[in-house]
Amino acid sequence: MQDDAYLKCINPQCGLEYSIESTNVQCEKGHMLDVKYKKTPSVNLKEVFYKRRNSEGSIFNESGVWRFRELLNFCQIDTENIEECSRYLVSLDGAEGRQSKPYRMSKAAEFINISNDDLWLQPEGYNPSGSFKDNGMATAVTHAKMIGAKKIVCASTGNTSASAGMFAANEGINCDVYIPAGQIAPGKLSQAYQFGAQIVEVNGNFDDALKESLDDAKNHDGYTVNSINPFRIEGQKTIPFRALEYLNWESPDWIVYPGGALGNTSSCGKALMELYEWGWIKKIPRIAVINSEGASTLSDLYNGKFEGEELRWNKGNPNTELISRYYNHLDKEGLKPKTKATAIQIGRPANILKGLRALEFTNGVVTTVSDSEMLDGMSVVGLNGFDCEMASGASVVGIKKLIIEEIIKKDDVVIGILTGRQKDAMLPVDYHNNPENKFAIPPRN
Ligand SMILES: [Zn+2]
Repeated sequence: MQDDAYLKCINPQCGLEYSIESTNVQCEKGHMLDVKYKKTPSVNLKEVFYKRRNSEGSIFNESGVWRFRELLNFCQIDTENIEECSRYLVSLDGAEGRQSKPYRMSKAAEFINISNDDLWLQPEGYNPSGSFKDNGMATAVTHAKMIGAKKIVCASTGNTSASAGMFAANEGINCDVYIPAGQIAPGKLSQAYQFGAQIVEVNGNFDDALKESLDDAKNHDGYTVNSINPFRIEGQKTIPFRALEYLNWESPDWIVYPGGALGNTSSCGKALMELYEWGWIKKIPRIAVINSEGASTLSDLYNGKFEGEELRWNKGNPNTELISRYYNHLDKEGLKPKTKATAIQIGRPANILKGLRALEFTNGVVTTVSDSEMLDGMSVVGLNGFDCEMASGASVVGIKKLIIEEIIKKDDVVIGILTGRQKDAMLPVDYHNNPENKFAIPPRN
């Protein structure tokens, strides 16, 4: 194997490097890792990617992830050799990311009060397991297979388990899913059962489940597929790749994500850093992260709402003690993340440092929205004939809020990512049965 791809610690003062076949999710000093590439991909690949939209029978061209395989070639294969692709690249028959691209949604634009020409919303719920997770799971399970893992392990608030379970079933490997008991939307949990995953119930919240799953992976030879795995981040880079490609690689002004574990923020930041460094884009879009008011760790720290200090990546010197004190404060006060948008009900975002790096690189912003606002956002997406879950509503109302605050300017071009499709059947039913809700269409008798 060549050594074009390798793992490198994200801390510039440390910078430890590991072989691409390492399963470490941290360097030995406890810092997170990046997948790095030595070669600069030629800008001419833009044309190749465009041509692959006519797949000519190759599932790796059909796939919205592997269509961009030269930009995530950690397997270091000959990417034009389909036989080699088949041997290495894990795919749900080309379905991951295939239908996910930016769409116009005029009713959402009207609600946000932005020109319909300036707003794009990208439904990642159109992935086979129903969320953006399939983008990164394709690459993480590819790495798991590359190193011969027999079991994948994850902690999940729902979408990760559905995606991990689906990929594991497709590849014929085992999958253990750690969940916070009683806190998962049944529609999400049922997917993991359906795909034959072993559910492990943990008393506590997502953060507790993640800790137990990491212990299991470490002690029982499991392969972790949560977003702390740097290979997950590689696949999720294709979300901004697809968005940018549909805009002919002309950067929008903003890319907006709901904020949970911050894997998406991290991967978008890494994608933009790489594209900028490679000369593929001239302008760096700004990232906006939208937290739930009930799970607002990043917003609290980034906006100086804890101890008055605005937490920053600070060129690789973030104040990690501030983060520790914030978590201690949550524990001491018994504060648990609480929102009906379970996908982003996370108090300790595993990717907070990479998220901060992304925000620094893109001059990003972080804000919060309420549960009732997210439900409005979710519902107005539905009125355009698109399906999304409650957490995705955060992107829509987050854009609205940032426009009102004049942080997003009126003629800015904005891409909002809708991270998953509806899996909590009762949310829309309850929403529409309450005539006081903005977009409610109550039943008639
Ligand atoms: Zn390190």
